[in-house]
Amino acid sequence: MAIHAADFRELRLDRLSRQFGAMNALNDVSLTVRRGEFIALLGPSGCGKSTTLNCLAGLLPATGGGIFLDDRRIDNLPPEQRGFGMVFQNYALFPHMSVRKNIGFGLTMRRVSKAEIARRVADAVALVRLQGQEDKLPGQLSGGQQQRVAIARAVVVEPPLVLMDEPLSNLDAKLRLEMRAEIRRIHTTMGGTTIYVTHDQEEALSLADRIVLLRDGSVRQVGTPDELYNRPAHLDVAEFMGFRNRVPGRVAQRDGDQVIVAVENATVVAQLREDLAPGAEAVLAVRPEDLVASDDGALVATVTSTEFRGRDHTGFARMADGTELVFHSEHSAPRGSIVRLRPAPERTLVFA
Ligand code: ATP
Repeated sequence: MAIHAADFRELRLDRLSRQFGAMNALNDVSLTVRRGEFIALLGPSGCGKSTTLNCLAGLLPATGGGIFLDDRRIDNLPPEQRGFGMVFQNYALFPHMSVRKNIGFGLTMRRVSKAEIARRVADAVALVRLQGQEDKLPGQLSGGQQQRVAIARAVVVEPPLVLMDEPLSNLDAKLRLEMRAEIRRIHTTMGGTTIYVTHDQEEALSLADRIVLLRDGSVRQVGTPDELYNRPAHLDVAEFMGFRNRVPGRVAQRDGDQVIVAVENATVVAQLREDLAPGAEAVLAVRPEDLVASDDGALVATVTSTEFRGRDHTGFARMADGTELVFHSEHSAPRGSIVRLRPAPERTLVFA
């Protein structure tokens, strides 16, 4: 494969900030990305993902902090001098140009020779598996094929960094899964560095080497998918990673990171994620799939509704103190019935 990402050791965001009027869209974001990494910027709508990517690309000036490629400061350079590849949600292809012309556009602008363009476009077409489609116009392609053209156009110039902003969000569910695998394959084949914006935790978990979780313009946690999924550092990270249940309680006993938490008239064994002493008020966080109906379940609640999920059911219930619970169950529980739910001790986390 002739496409190789250009060389650098690390990309560094140093206290990057961006204000819109009085509003802090990005707040002192610091991050070091190593060459070859696949980084997902993950977080809820409005958390600053696109703003980060646009500052990196040079499409939006930062209002504070700096961006460095090794020792070189690049946040004062215009986008074309940074030379990063960009892939957007809406593809942004030229409708009147063939696939071949679209992919070769960046090389033409760089005055690369015709023979070299032909060779590199052919390599890029092979990389994204679009052989035979080179003479079509974008309008004659499917959504997935158009997205492949956009990726080929971004990587053909052999950029040091490829930036992707929700590139799969316009595709249907099946195509999204296919393209997800393709994006990971292309990243690995090129040996490049990719920064990928998404609000979809599953996409981030499956694609990234490391996930950067943003909220309100600040970095809340940086870690491997395993770390974020199993060991979220804060309650808001846990919530975003699918810990939908929050149950208030009080730390009764502590043995290292293992704690017993008193909840209503019962106790629950769980794992401490923040430093809490016995007597402290706490919140239990647990995923619906780790809250199982059981005769010895500590959480007693009244079922309010259930939804069929195919393989099992999602149940909704309310405890006497008003706490709402979501749980999974093999059987549909009748509305109004009492359930006893047991949080799995190893996968129930305790936060302040
Ligand atoms: P989404 O997933 O919805 O695209 P995001 O995480 O990408 O969200 P950003 O687009 O980075 O979020 O926006 C971060 C914040 O900055 C938001 O509150 C947004 O309203 C604000 N913002 C973004 N662009 C502008 C702008 N040009 N002028 C004013 N405010 C802006």
